[in-house]
Amino acid sequence: MRIIRTIARWRGLQKAHARKGLTLGFVPTMGALHAGHVSLVKKSAAENDRTLASIFVNPTQFDDPRDLENYPRALERDAKLLAASGADYLLAPEYGELYPDGYRYRVQETVDSKLLCGAHRPDHFDGVLTVVLKLLHIAGARRAYFGEKDYQQYLLIKGLAEAFFLDTEIIPCPTVREADGLAMSSRNMLLTPEQRAAAPQFHTALSAGKNTAAIRRLLARKGFSVDYVAEKYGRRFGAVRAGKVRLIDNVKI
Ligand code: AMP
Repeated sequence: MRIIRTIARWRGLQKAHARKGLTLGFVPTMGALHAGHVSLVKKSAAENDRTLASIFVNPTQFDDPRDLENYPRALERDAKLLAASGADYLLAPEYGELYPDGYRYRVQETVDSKLLCGAHRPDHFDGVLTVVLKLLHIAGARRAYFGEKDYQQYLLIKGLAEAFFLDTEIIPCPTVREADGLAMSSRNMLLTPEQRAAAPQFHTALSAGKNTAAIRRLLARKGFSVDYVAEKYGRRFGAVRAGKVRLIDNVKI
């Protein structure tokens, strides 16, 4: 697997692949990879001739500077995992490569991005949609893969691709969970052993609870600080904090 640091370098490779008629799948990530990310890479590798993954911890989508600072980073380990999972290229650009404008230009969705996580993390989805638009343009892929763990994000990115007539098909991938039901997340490694032991109750409550008010009460009793539990798009969504670590999840109703 080749590691690429600059957009110019990737563009040259992408054009060469296009000339040969090779299909390209793209998996954007923020690194600290786990089996959820691996499932996206494997799906891309199965459906395309070549797979590009990216790792970029995008500062513009963090509303809390401490969260950005504490976000786990493990590039060397990630590169090995990506190569073993079938990725052909890893794009790992610096901030200045992706934001030559210093984030003066940004994409905003005005309705669905204000709900659920958007109501609790102001401007979060502006940062997500802006970086994803940049990355999708740069990648030039036939297909791009996103996890249903971040279902609101998936819906907004699908809408972005439609609104701006992007040539990339946006493909949803099922949430990968630990054996105890906890949705895999790079932030899980920041949980203390006690918080990790309690964390699966979040998914259990979301799946089994009768209604959102009862689930909120149950989660509060279990010691979580509840951002929201809400039903939308035929799914039940939740976001809680276990100490300083924010967990999100959603299940089909
Ligand atoms: P992140 O590195 O958290 O930005 O995630 C990169 C991509 O992996 C996004 O499309 C996520 O939705 C997806 N992803 C993260 N965790 C999981 C998971 N547990 N199962 C499936 N996809 C996931």
